[in-house]
Amino acid sequence: MGSSDIVKFESLSPAEFFRRNREIAGFSNPTRAVYQTIRELVENSLDATETFKILPSIKIFVDYVDQSRNWVSIYVEDNGIGIPGDEIPNVFGRVFYSSKYRIKQHRGIFGLGAKMVVLYAQSTTNTPILVRSAPLKSDVIYEYQLMIDIARNEPIIVSQRTLENKYGWHGTAIRVVLEGDWSKAKRRVEEYIRRTAMVAPYAEFIIRGPDNDVMRIPRVTIKMPEPPKEGLPHPKSVDVEMIKQMIQKNPDMSLLEFLAENFDGVGETIARTFLEFAGYPPDMPVGKLANDELVNFVVKMREFNGWRRPRADWLSPIGEDILAEGVKFVLKPEVVFTVTRKPSSYMGNPFIVEAALAWGGSIEPSDKPIIYRFANKVPLIYDEGNDVIRKVVDEIDWSQYKVKFPAPLAIVVHICSTKIPYVSAGKEAIADVPEIESEVRNAVREVARKLRLYITRKEKEQELLMKYAIFSMYAEEVAGSLSYVTKADIEELRSSINALIKEKLKIERIEDLINNNKDASSEGS
Ligand code: ADP
Ligand code: MG
Repeated sequence: MGSSDIVKFESLSPAEFFRRNREIAGFSNPTRAVYQTIRELVENSLDATETFKILPSIKIFVDYVDQSRNWVSIYVEDNGIGIPGDEIPNVFGRVFYSSKYRIKQHRGIFGLGAKMVVLYAQSTTNTPILVRSAPLKSDVIYEYQLMIDIARNEPIIVSQRTLENKYGWHGTAIRVVLEGDWSKAKRRVEEYIRRTAMVAPYAEFIIRGPDNDVMRIPRVTIKMPEPPKEGLPHPKSVDVEMIKQMIQKNPDMSLLEFLAENFDGVGETIARTFLEFAGYPPDMPVGKLANDELVNFVVKMREFNGWRRPRADWLSPIGEDILAEGVKFVLKPEVVFTVTRKPSSYMGNPFIVEAALAWGGSIEPSDKPIIYRFANKVPLIYDEGNDVIRKVVDEIDWSQYKVKFPAPLAIVVHICSTKIPYVSAGKEAIADVPEIESEVRNAVREVARKLRLYITRKEKEQELLMKYAIFSMYAEEVAGSLSYVTKADIEELRSSINALIKEKLKIERIEDLINNNKDASSEGS
């Protein structure tokens, strides 16, 4: 009896794998499915707009299709660069098909999100996805209804037509029908959009639910961050397989050329120094590196410390001003402090940490700082306990910064990188890579110091105001008595005594001080 009679072996298509394991990608139940669908579509929309310097306008409509079966339709429309007609089927119908497998900061990374939406819809309601898209300057709008041939991991075109693009529209609109719990997902979706607006205040959103309940988030600035450029791998970030693939593309190049042209942070001089260090002749063709030498070559690349730091041009941080505007608009605090740190790197991957500290105003006092986490401008909502940001913020001794809990304190941390070290495939928490941890700490400390200065200044002002109030009371009495005794004009006496007090207290403009304190406290109520 052959072993095949007892054990049966088979292979699984990527589409089938994710159909079976959809919870890995966030589609674990009808509530999460609605949230995750909107999130995947919105993130694609933001990538298709901001990465190309288009101010994003995003519409999200949710409707009941069949309430007895919990069927809802979700419609998401953007004004992005659109998708070329012949790419639409693969983009929505082939798991692991993407335009974002590049060294460049994006929200999307896996080439999976749109397909998960189709798979989930298909698995729960057996209905196709409807896609309409017009690339920039296109005369036509492409329309498809698509499903996925799951065993083959290929798109099935259910219907297809082109429409005239009368009004010169560009962008993408998608409609799916899926089993989902909107009433439970609603708050989470709205929170997700609110947080997205915090780091993208240049975007506008409209969410309309099935009961015609509308949430509108306006655009609060037209300033946008510089889009990222496309980059090259850094020598510290490669592995053997990657080098092998690169060599296959240019087997005849000399080692010197190969290094200088295909990597970030390597010029000719550095390449020469490295080759000397590693013990390889500069003019040897790369194709001549034997298979067992490759491992050593990569080890040497990692060991060598003479590379330049990875460039950060592949990144697109939000920037201190835009971040401050977003946080101010969404959290409505008394004050906001922001910082964008200088680029840094871990294992050859560049990253930048940004932080905002919001204090007072509409922020509810709580026993520890409220944390808002972002990775490549995507809000992270679940799994806060495993995140390096929570760890760093909790380790800080806030009393050093004059904060006494309960306090109205919110900390926003954004990490952007060509490679975010997520704890798991769910992309919800960032691992504690030492380099990142220390940058997060520096960033949070920097804004915390600004808060300390602010609180100190306010304490001093309060003190002055108290003194001024007390002195003024005496001034009133003194002016009264003096005018009684000397018969001098009481108004004149009063104003010269007041001038004297201001001079002694070194208060130039008491009105400003009073107003400042009034503003701050009235916004808080
Ligand atoms: P990922 O976003 O990780 O690349 P997706 O499956 O979500 O994977 O999307 C696949 C590809 O489809 C994207 O890389 C992008 O090229 C294209 N795409 C998806 N949605 C849009 C959209 N709204 N506008 C333009 N292109 C889109
Ligand atoms: Mg995506």
